[in-house]
Amino acid sequence: MNVPARRAAELRELLTRASRAYYIDDRPIMADGEYDERFRELQALEAQHPELRTADSPTLRVGADVAASHLTKHTHLAPMASLDNAMSDDELQAWEDSAVRLVGEGVRTSGYSCELKIDGAAVSLTYEKGVLVTGATRGNGTIGEDITANLRTLQEIPLRLLGAGWPELIEIRGEVYMTFDGFDRMNEERVQAGEPVFMNPRNSAAGALRQKDPRSTAQRPLRFWGYTFALPDNAPLPFESQTQLLERLAEWGIPVAPHRQRCESLAQVHAWAHHLEHVQREQLPFDIDGGVVKVDPLALHAELGVVAGRVPRWAIARKFAATIEETTLLSINVNVGRTGKLNPWAELEPVEIGGVTVRNATLHNAQLIAQKDLRVGDRVQVRRAGDVIPQVIGPVADKRTGKEVPWVPPGACPVCSTPVANEGDEVDVFCPNVACPGRRLEALIHFASRGAMDIRGLSEARISQFVEAGLVKDPSDLYDLTTTRLEELDGFAERSAQLLVDALATSKQQPLSRLLFALGIRHVGEGAAELLARHFGEMDALASADQAAINAVRGIGPIIAESVAAWFQDAWARRLVEKLRRRGLTFTEPQAAEADGALKGLTVVLTGTLPTLSRGQATQLIEQAGGRVTDSVSKKTSLLVAGGDAGSKLDKARTLGVAVITEAELLDRIGRPPV
Ligand code: NAD
Repeated sequence: MNVPARRAAELRELLTRASRAYYIDDRPIMADGEYDERFRELQALEAQHPELRTADSPTLRVGADVAASHLTKHTHLAPMASLDNAMSDDELQAWEDSAVRLVGEGVRTSGYSCELKIDGAAVSLTYEKGVLVTGATRGNGTIGEDITANLRTLQEIPLRLLGAGWPELIEIRGEVYMTFDGFDRMNEERVQAGEPVFMNPRNSAAGALRQKDPRSTAQRPLRFWGYTFALPDNAPLPFESQTQLLERLAEWGIPVAPHRQRCESLAQVHAWAHHLEHVQREQLPFDIDGGVVKVDPLALHAELGVVAGRVPRWAIARKFAATIEETTLLSINVNVGRTGKLNPWAELEPVEIGGVTVRNATLHNAQLIAQKDLRVGDRVQVRRAGDVIPQVIGPVADKRTGKEVPWVPPGACPVCSTPVANEGDEVDVFCPNVACPGRRLEALIHFASRGAMDIRGLSEARISQFVEAGLVKDPSDLYDLTTTRLEELDGFAERSAQLLVDALATSKQQPLSRLLFALGIRHVGEGAAELLARHFGEMDALASADQAAINAVRGIGPIIAESVAAWFQDAWARRLVEKLRRRGLTFTEPQAAEADGALKGLTVVLTGTLPTLSRGQATQLIEQAGGRVTDSVSKKTSLLVAGGDAGSKLDKARTLGVAVITEAELLDRIGRPPV
């Protein structure tokens, strides 16, 4: 064999093996970026030497062969294709130009439907007379696997389509995916149950769908977005464009992904894609690996057709930089969080992920490190998504050399050397010393934060500056800062010093609930702090309550009760409380909920990022005005307060006709001036 032939055979073998691992076993053996690079290399070789192209080449196939799968096979009404990729604006332009060459200039002005490219597993849902009869994986595009029972367990997939006007028989296609939150929660539960963790949301979604027992699927936090359809041959088209299709899917009760947009020209598509990659992607609670651009009129889809049964010419994936890359784990270190939790983190050989150089990543806890069998020196896959802290997904076990060293978790706090505590079956390990200096900085940052004492202008950098200068050891010291003292520090002028002193004075008015949350007592979040503050009314009543009395508060369980009682027993904590009292902080809670408030009897849902209020603050205001805050939108919802980048809740509210208001309108209704 000559060199190109040998390389082509090598690549075919590698890509076929990787595809099997990815699609059938749901356990990838390489990063997607590496797969894509090899795939392009093979495509280029085959273009240069067409005689090297074999019928079984991965470049001519969709997915992987499902012959070996344990599931019953299902033949799709029409093949489920993959998508070609454009990695840049120029490649997108080349795609438009080639479509123009085939069907004429009309393509440029017929509009594009631009959508998220959700990184999940493609499925097809067959509806007969509006009733879900079959659900299947994409498989090799023509034949998939029947996973009806599993798909039925997804709440978001309607068993019966809503409304009317659906064709007698239609396959609705879309993506089953997992949110980052759902994925992390599921992995934490698996660690606690001693089960192996999943590598990424995409593979765990795909794996969950192919479970033998639908009850296992039901336990996974799977979600669904619909984006395309297929009909029997010669059936009349019920929509004229992709945009119309998405609108109809939403009317039929099929979830449709947010941030979709019809663009009138390719220039608009470029702008949409850049905004998606650099702004919106960061805020999405799930992974996307790009956008999908589709010629809008369906009549043009028929004209443009499909290349080699694999990729349509009327659609293309505008891929973004990968969020997962491979690098080397140089060392594992531990820092101490504000509640004393020991947080292991990874020092990595610097690696560029999505345009940012990543040097450190979180490792969550020692148990997870053991479960993943991470060793110092391992090649590891690292994920950086949005503003989430980079995470080490797991080792690339195939690349081990034998020199990697297993990690032993510390038996004592790395800062104050107090022996660590591990409570019951909890995964996390703690430094039990509430006065540990390692906890100081994080604790102060939390104390000043928006949902806590909300001390405007007290940034992390300034807190570090005060700690380093020895000015602040615990939160009470903040209230001793004077303008004269501040003006001596770098970066402070008369006005900034005065503003900070004023902000500190204002923060003394925060009610007890905020102060309790700000104190960073383990397990006491905003909700628990509020329940405790409302019940006890003032600090001293809570400080002298025993565990049983705290546990008797509605909504407070034994774990929180134990933690709060223990905290108030600690001598350092008691001293802190006294110091805060002397500095004039509010130790009482105003009695809540005006019975006749402006939102009396209303059920309110919050979504997106509100411009000035945190979730906790908005909830507090709504409850004080007599409203009730719930998590999900339903027919019973009275109001949806939507902030920036609101997602599916906003779509659902619109579908159900629920009133949608902004934060400013909320504040106006309850008679509060905007912040
Ligand atoms: P693809 O993921 O590149 O694109 C096609 C798929 O995008 C469709 O099948 C559909 O499932 C999905 N999609 C998401 N949103 C969509 C929307 N709005 N409209 C239409 N489709 C949408 O193609 P593929 O064939 O599923 O997989 C190829 C990719 O999979 C490769 O680029 C590679 O990154 C990855 N892969 C990785 C390995 C590995 O070893 N890591 C192996 C095989 C494949």
